[in-house]
Amino acid sequence: MTAPALADILAARNAISGTVRRTPLLRADGLSARTDVETHLKLETVLPIGAFKLRGALNAAANMPGGTHTLTCCSTGNHGRAVAWAARRLGLKAVIFMSSLVPETKLAAIRALGAEIRIVGRSQDDAQEACRLLAGDGVLEIPPFDDRNVIAGQGTIGLEILEDLPETRTVLVPLSGGGLAAGVALAARSISPGIRVIGISMDRGAAMAASLEAGTPVAVTEVESLADSLGGGIGTDNRLTFAMCRDLLDDVVLVTEEEIYTAMRTLYLEEALVVEGAAAVGVAACLAGRIRDMRGPLVTIITGRNVDRDQFTRIITAQPVALGDRLVEGAIHDA
Ligand SMILES: *Cc1c(COP(=O)(O)O)cnc(C)c1O
Repeated sequence: MTAPALADILAARNAISGTVRRTPLLRADGLSARTDVETHLKLETVLPIGAFKLRGALNAAANMPGGTHTLTCCSTGNHGRAVAWAARRLGLKAVIFMSSLVPETKLAAIRALGAEIRIVGRSQDDAQEACRLLAGDGVLEIPPFDDRNVIAGQGTIGLEILEDLPETRTVLVPLSGGGLAAGVALAARSISPGIRVIGISMDRGAAMAASLEAGTPVAVTEVESLADSLGGGIGTDNRLTFAMCRDLLDDVVLVTEEEIYTAMRTLYLEEALVVEGAAAVGVAACLAGRIRDMRGPLVTIITGRNVDRDQFTRIITAQPVALGDRLVEGAIHDA
């Protein structure tokens, strides 16, 4: 599989523009004042399903082989929701695989989108294997990130940012499997060669960050994080996103759980935004002063809003949140 080019991102925009409307770029005055850098937020939270992953899923579906009647994936999170939503929108069937360990609330969110759920085994690997077996012959498996159509779809965010704010000098991108970062960096650097694109992850259990550090895809131990949508591996057989992130990202910055907590809280109190942990990592890095030589205008992508309601309530009321065996509270610079 070859890596996508700018032309693929432009084609993706055409393919999805009838379904995904352009998302707003919000100038965040409160954050700008705190960091002294003009900061804008790219609000993917306003999309149906509340996350950007619709873009990649819809573009993959737009390129599906003739005769495809079913979309499938193995994901309990935003990617699973996106595939379910895309299938319903396009009049296709969706089969979403998950393991028996998945909590009922996540399962219900995907079932509500009309997808068939198949529970296989007690690990993500078993469920993934079953998904792979179903794929083929009218059934298209849409991978969460390591796929050229998915990367091109996520890259449409980069096009929109540079059309709305051509003078953007820095883009902060939440980084997990790297489909989003690869697509956005490809678009942004093709259009505006001097721009800086920086990936942001949590400081424990971030597979792409560890892989870039090691110079090759590596597996990491999963750790509970407020940024749960950034968990998971990049695949030791990674084909596209590892090389693209290595070649196209200027830097990768890691943030602590306390910093993510503070960013979620600040985004709610100052911008009235409900943002999940994964989507708050860019703001976390800015507020904690972790971006070296920070230049504005700066855009940080607010990737999603699917946060556990109880956890969110605790954060906005300044109560500690339990993550595994530790308690997380706001950082020292919390307002
Ligand atoms: C999937 C996801 C990401 C990371 O995207 P990758 O392409 O896996 O790097 C970031 N934020 C949210 C909310 C997500 O759902």
